[in-house]
Amino acid sequence: MLNDKTALVTGSTSGIGLGIAKALARQGANIVLNGFGDVDGSRAAVLEAGKAHNVKVAYHGADMSRPAEIEDMMKYAGGQFGHVDILVNNAGIQHVAPVQDFPVEKWDSIIAINLSSAFHTTRLALPAMQAAKWGRIINIASVHGLVGSAQKAAYVAAKHGIVGLTKVTALENAAIGVTCNAICPGWVLTPLVQKQIDAKAAEQGISVAEAQKQLLSEKEPSLRFTTPEELGELAVFFCSPAGSNICGVAWNMDGGWAAQ
Ligand code: NAD
Repeated sequence: MLNDKTALVTGSTSGIGLGIAKALARQGANIVLNGFGDVDGSRAAVLEAGKAHNVKVAYHGADMSRPAEIEDMMKYAGGQFGHVDILVNNAGIQHVAPVQDFPVEKWDSIIAINLSSAFHTTRLALPAMQAAKWGRIINIASVHGLVGSAQKAAYVAAKHGIVGLTKVTALENAAIGVTCNAICPGWVLTPLVQKQIDAKAAEQGISVAEAQKQLLSEKEPSLRFTTPEELGELAVFFCSPAGSNICGVAWNMDGGWAAQ
């Protein structure tokens, strides 16, 4: 379905971003990876996922908190396999603390990585998508783009912000074949959440398995984690012909979290 398309997925060396990159590669899209950590392993996993279509995989290590590096990545991505047709803004970090104790530098970096980076990639990707009259921008927000949780001021602010950016981008491009939508996952068992589970276990002197159970039962009625594979399939749906008139939604995949 996505042969000859190029997808750039930020923060795709781990977790949800890697899951989405693999799902898009399975549909034939060439992929530009970004993120830190295990680049070779991620590249191999995406090549394997897309091997039936001979997909090509490139990588740029831009730090999403730095606009100049983002500009460099967008130029690089456009020069690899043709312009970016599918942009997935996924890179993100978390920090938990009450508002009055929230470290200012953590606030700044969460807003930069989880929100402002999506503004930069979007503004730089749009002209080529508009010229081609086809584009898909998928912002990985969170259920925290729809509801709040204590101790997550910067994250919740950034995720509500990205839902707003999604709506405006969708409205400005609705008539020209470029859609923009947000995906709002509940708990997904990735390194970002594992850190929170480990902290809970240490704080309460309970096992990691018990902390995991508590985390799910506090918020997620399905009592299970959403998987990167499920989120990848939702991203694929947004890129499919059936998704072409979906504009500006914030689509939660959260086991019922936001329905409460
Ligand atoms: P993760 O920690 O597994 O992956 C984060 C990715 O972002 C990694 O590839 C990392 O290298 C990259 N990254 C971090 N800082 C970066 C920077 N400055 N520049 C470039 N890349 C950077 O986390 P994840 O859980 O897969 O999270 C991915 C996205 O999904 C985030 O936006 C997160 O807020 C969102 N999300 C996660 C959950 C969850 O439960 N895990 C729920 C809702 C939303």
